[in-house]
Parts: sequence; structure tokens; C-alpha cells
Amino acid sequence: MNYQKTIRTPISLTGVALHSGAAVSLRLLPAPVDSGIRFRRVDLDPVVEIPAHVSQVTETTLATVLGREGVEVSTVEHCLAALHGLGVDNAVVEVDGPELPILDGSALPYVEAILEAGWECLGGARRRLRVTKPIRVSDGDKYVLLRPHRGYRISYSIEFEGRFPGDQHYYLDVTPESFALELALARTFGFLADVEFLRSMGKARGGSLENAVVLDGNAVLNPEGLRTADEMVRHKMLDAIGDLALAGHAIDGHLIVHKGGHALHTELVRALLARPDAWELVDETAPIDRPVPAPTWREPVYAYA
Ligand SMILES: [Zn+2]
Repeated sequence: MNYQKTIRTPISLTGVALHSGAAVSLRLLPAPVDSGIRFRRVDLDPVVEIPAHVSQVTETTLATVLGREGVEVSTVEHCLAALHGLGVDNAVVEVDGPELPILDGSALPYVEAILEAGWECLGGARRRLRVTKPIRVSDGDKYVLLRPHRGYRISYSIEFEGRFPGDQHYYLDVTPESFALELALARTFGFLADVEFLRSMGKARGGSLENAVVLDGNAVLNPEGLRTADEMVRHKMLDAIGDLALAGHAIDGHLIVHKGGHALHTELVRALLARPDAWELVDETAPIDRPVPAPTWREPVYAYA
């Protein structure tokens, strides 16, 4: 049997919010057994706490937004992906505004900070949600399928017909190690025309080449290029891990996604939790306390000409 984890010491991160452009301070704090991941709006009096659970999702258009009693916390997916990807079960995420900082657009700053803080095993048993029957949601040609599998496996494909980056596929058995080394570095991405449209709507005001990959035609506008040739599909997998964390448990299943996004990812979690006959909660037996290597990525490993 394995035990639930939290972070050992508090972590502070500051940055700019992608959509509002506001400066944001964020703190990750240790939390007790069975408390899960909870976001806390500390700029409000009284402070409002919002559990990281799919029942709190209020919006999925540009980012995953959680809300409670009219109070929201937006863009939770990269933070949740880092915590879930590294197997941190319990933590409080304090934030002094309605949107998390985008940092560099990936989960790497969270992963580096969490690995530096280290973690602590708590007393309670760690349970996994083991999928026993397939669950599928779709929207036109886009779909998300979760099938029975021992371990957490993701197969993801994206398709941009007739334009870069075209088709990309990636497949990973997700463990704290593989998450840290293969997915954490992948940055959010967008197309220049969409960025200009969002700006005209008052969104993406904090967006820059420092925190997103911007594509225009066949060009990557970021002077440093891409971190990996398939950075875009890897980022979609990172988003999926963050969104599936809203199930509230580690997952045993094979997630197969074609052209997914926050809306379909969270719809799948809703469909899954609504079907208690399609899963069971089992004590985790695989070791999770192996040391996780720090991501070694520092310089771009691939530049698109
Ligand atoms: Zn993302």
C-alpha cells in the first residue's frame, strides 16, 4: 500500500496572468490527508476556498475555470497537471486574484519548485480510480475515450488540416518521472490571428513570446523556436492531465484523445464520475516514492526554421 503525499515546505511563485495581464502571487502549501487540492482566493475577505473538483468547473473556453458562490479561479490546469503528474495528493494553492500566473506557459516552473520543496508522505492510503468499463465523449470528429488499463497511459493526437503543425501524436505511460521529463516542459500555444482576436476582446493581455508558443503560417514566431518538435501535442497532454485531476484521484486507465480540449476533457470526467459502475477505487500498490529526476531541459532542443 502507498500513502498520500503533500509538499514538504511552502512554495511561492509570482507571474503575470495570461488573460487579465495582472501580476499574481501564488503559494503552494502543504495540506492534510484526504483534503485534496484546494484553491484559495486570499485577496477576498473572507477568503474563499474552491476544491479542485469537476463539480466546480464553470468555464472551459480558453482555460479551465473553477468557481464557487460567484468567485472564480481561472487557468488552473497547468498547476493541477504538475501536482497530479508528480503524485501530490493534497495541497492548498493560494492565489491573490481570479487567474493563476501563466509563468512560462508550461508546467516546468511548478515541477522544479515542487521537486525542490520535496514531499512528505501522510498517513492515509492512496487510492486510484481504476476504470473497469470504457467511457467515451465526443463532439463531431473530436473524442475522448477512457479505457480499462493498469497504470495511467495517454495517447493523444491533434490535427490542423492544411496548416502547421499539421498532425502530431504522442503516447506516454504517465509516471512522476515521465511527466517531469517529457511533458512538463511543453508550453501553451496559439495562432497569431487568434491572439490578435483575443486581444481585441480584452483577453490574452498578459500573453507574450515569453509565455506561449505563437504560430503564424509555417513559422514559429518565438526566436528560440520550439522546445521539442512535438511540443504542441505534448502540451495538450499536459492540459489533459490537469483536467483529469479534477476527478480527485490518480487514474488507472488508458486515455485516448483526438483533437481534445478543456471542454471535452472535463466532460469526460463528468461522464466518468456519473457512472460509478464503470470504475472502482483501489489501494495503490505500485511504489510512488522513487526519486523523480529534475527536468534537465534548459535550452531549445529543436528550432523550426
Ligand atoms: Zn495549457
